[in-house]
Amino acid sequence: MDYSALQKWGPELAQWSAEYHRDLRSRPVRAQTAPGEIAAKIPGTPPENAEEFATLFSDFETLIMPGITHWQHPRFFAYFPANSSPPSVLAEWLTATLAAQCMLWQTSPAATELETTMLDWLRQMISLPEGFSGVIQDSASTATLAAILVAREKALSWTGNTKGLAGQPAVRIYCSDQVHSSIDKACWIAGVGQDNLVKLPSHGPLKSLDANALERAIAEDKAAGHLPAGLIVCIGATGTGASDDINAAMDVAEAHGLYVHVDAAWAGSAMICPEFRHFMAGAERADSFVFNPHKWLFTNFDCTAHFIRDPEAMVRTLGIRPSYLETQGRDGIINYSEWSVPLGRRFRALKLWFVIRSYGVAGMQAMIRNHVRWAEEIADKLRRAPDFEIVTEPMLSLFSFRYSPKGAGDLDALNARLVNAINDDGRIYVTQTQADGKYVIRFQVGQTQTTKEDVELAFEVITELAQAL
Ligand SMILES: *Cc1c(COP(=O)(O)O)cnc(C)c1O
Repeated sequence: MDYSALQKWGPELAQWSAEYHRDLRSRPVRAQTAPGEIAAKIPGTPPENAEEFATLFSDFETLIMPGITHWQHPRFFAYFPANSSPPSVLAEWLTATLAAQCMLWQTSPAATELETTMLDWLRQMISLPEGFSGVIQDSASTATLAAILVAREKALSWTGNTKGLAGQPAVRIYCSDQVHSSIDKACWIAGVGQDNLVKLPSHGPLKSLDANALERAIAEDKAAGHLPAGLIVCIGATGTGASDDINAAMDVAEAHGLYVHVDAAWAGSAMICPEFRHFMAGAERADSFVFNPHKWLFTNFDCTAHFIRDPEAMVRTLGIRPSYLETQGRDGIINYSEWSVPLGRRFRALKLWFVIRSYGVAGMQAMIRNHVRWAEEIADKLRRAPDFEIVTEPMLSLFSFRYSPKGAGDLDALNARLVNAINDDGRIYVTQTQADGKYVIRFQVGQTQTTKEDVELAFEVITELAQAL
């Protein structure tokens, strides 16, 4: 196949893509396949000879599509959104066409300079102060890993990378018991170790980190000869949207010189609306802040916005310059590979540029405000419906509920059956979590094409299937 084939297949795929999105509501949201079903239909050995693209495309439709869970479905209410949009798709086509490696400034100056500018647009959109510099990471998980590595190196006076961790005091990282599993994994990979990730109790309606417990834990650690290094605070944690009182945590962190990273992977996008920014009060005092435009800002995966106050500390931790990566005689340039764990980097700023310009900030705010309002509306309807209870109140567009008819016995098992019934039905998709030791059903609104009617239909589906259990 040579590139001229794009002239034939590009329009065909564009047609297919537009029709896919037009008709998406008629497909079940979650794939309805059994494990192994798709693999069994794919040959176990690669083809010896070339095949026609027409055959590949037809196989894509018949073999692959039945096994796809439709994340862009307007009635996807599971997990968190990983939304996208037409300008994002179009930018990805161009990005794939160029297939540039954007690791150094000189390996694509436009990519680096657009990245710097787009991240500054995002910084302004969420109202982080000037003085934060941005970088696009491939995921919040790697942004958090990078932040924990900087925290570790600062605490170890930059000796971790050279000497390793053996014989060093234990590097301690603090967070609440609500944080995402990516924090644990980052501590594993950074050599901090699970036992040195100190998970503190959370309290109050938002399940915020207990700052007094943080203060006590740091004092105990210092007495034990450990090295308090970093604090992770969260805005909108994954389970039920727990959010920390960042100012209270910062008071303690600053007094002890901790490196502070804010994980707002999902909720960060909503910070483009001024009325929701109270959740991030205090974040301007942190060292590092991450959120995912690839979750709730209409920009398809992967696109993580990572803001840092002191890029020098990041470069000191992650910058490595073998002779083949040196850039000769250039001052004032950024080599973004020195700000992140992987060396290779895709041109991801292009989709942000297209998306932000296509909708405008006002257009994006309007979509997010709708999501939050519709989530509140369905939560209210479920609250009033017989036999349902709201377990965690809406935090932005996320809440959790459960079906609790009187005398039903094991409510955890009943709600697990309800989740399965809903997802087997296919009209909507929801997932579960634990809240206060209970099995609860999570519900979030955040898809680009979701309408008020889609959310209303969700209420009908949930109540209808619950009664039929
Ligand atoms: C989704 C999520 C993450 C992980 O994001 P990735 O980009 O998939 O690594 C981390 N923290 C929170 C709070 C999240 O919601």
